[in-house]
Amino acid sequence: MRIPDVLVRELFEPLWDKYENSVRLATLRKLEKSQWLPAKDLQAASNKKLRLMCEHAVATSTFYNRRFAQAGINASTVSCIADLAGLPLLTKTDIRENLEEILSSTYEKKDLVPAKTGGSTGVSLRVFCDQQGIEKRNAAALRSDIWSGWRMGQPLAAVWGNPPKAVTLKNKLRLFLKDRIIYLDTMKIDEEAIDKFLIEWKTLKPGLLFGHAHSLFILAESLKESGISLRPSGVIATSMMLLDHERAVIEEVCGTKVTNRYGCEEVSLIGCECEKHRGMHLNLDHNIVEFLRDDGTKCTAGEDGRIVVTELINFGMPMIRYEVGDRGVPSCQQCECGRGLPLMESLTGRTADFLVAEGGFKVAGISIIENSLTRFSGISQLQIVQNKPLLLTVNLVPDVDFGQNTEIELLAALRDMLGQGMQFEVNHVTAIAQEKSGKYRFTICRL
Ligand SMILES: [Zn+2]
Repeated sequence: MRIPDVLVRELFEPLWDKYENSVRLATLRKLEKSQWLPAKDLQAASNKKLRLMCEHAVATSTFYNRRFAQAGINASTVSCIADLAGLPLLTKTDIRENLEEILSSTYEKKDLVPAKTGGSTGVSLRVFCDQQGIEKRNAAALRSDIWSGWRMGQPLAAVWGNPPKAVTLKNKLRLFLKDRIIYLDTMKIDEEAIDKFLIEWKTLKPGLLFGHAHSLFILAESLKESGISLRPSGVIATSMMLLDHERAVIEEVCGTKVTNRYGCEEVSLIGCECEKHRGMHLNLDHNIVEFLRDDGTKCTAGEDGRIVVTELINFGMPMIRYEVGDRGVPSCQQCECGRGLPLMESLTGRTADFLVAEGGFKVAGISIIENSLTRFSGISQLQIVQNKPLLLTVNLVPDVDFGQNTEIELLAALRDMLGQGMQFEVNHVTAIAQEKSGKYRFTICRL
């Protein structure tokens, strides 16, 4: 039985928020209004939130208290992001080494929502967010889902690694009533998996197709060869660079424009294209994004730089001047859609590579990282290079938790994903060299 979309939108979604006492839909309504405000009003509102966040961080986080004092910055006088120019960037290493001190004393750690990410950089990281911050982040994601052409209440289709399995009755109910979703698992994209996905597609009729850009492309290319087309209301590509030729194939197969979106686990959604596709609108309601040159000075419009995010809504773990590890180009253009949210011209970070498994199918690098680096303690960084079909070079940076079994478990996990016949050459290294762009590549396929 397929529940009518209108019932999900008008009844189940609001009821579920009420049941969970969530601010998600209330925030979405606010965001849908605020996006049309003039840029200067949006900036002013966000500057106000910035001061509040700085004051909160200094008052309740030992780490920021010290950092602001060392930089000689009085949080209560912060009026815009430029006032924080003297504050060191928050790096992933800072987070790994000072996590407990960064967390706000206002919250019990057990009440915060944890996330462990391999991110786009291959560096494992544990972060936290307070519950309301999570609900607001979800609202921001919904706003950008709507920009793609998707309408609230329509089912979803995800091309994604590790589809979550509903275990509890509550989650099963939620899945049935409102989060109606089908998956194509990026851990194993082959003909059989695609056929199964297509059968489910016909039954559920998803309104939104989303996934890692390159995974969407692999699906689209396979469908194109078979002469099959999909007709979702919107397509969202995320988590990776969207290459132009890949975009064209996805659009041809789906009959609609691809909406490129950029975000990471650590902060609220960073940017997303609107229906005009003239760059990505930055989520100024929740984040202030800086684009910095290597010397730390501010990039001008059109100039590629390091992306640094200050999040305005996570009071459990303040993220102030967080260096994401990606690069992008700011824009001074106003979008013709009329939204006051500023634009980012493009994302210039590197696309993740896919590795080829023993069976000949492709496995997304990001999924391999999700199933190895982020699952085992003892490894702070990982890079896997495929020079021959059955030989992988594994460069790993061990950390203090590295033990006798770490490597055995890691290789077993890699064999599970890529085939039992895989051979490995393991190198313990002190650091993984970065690309010229400043970005790490966690998988490199040279076949
Ligand atoms: Zn726009």
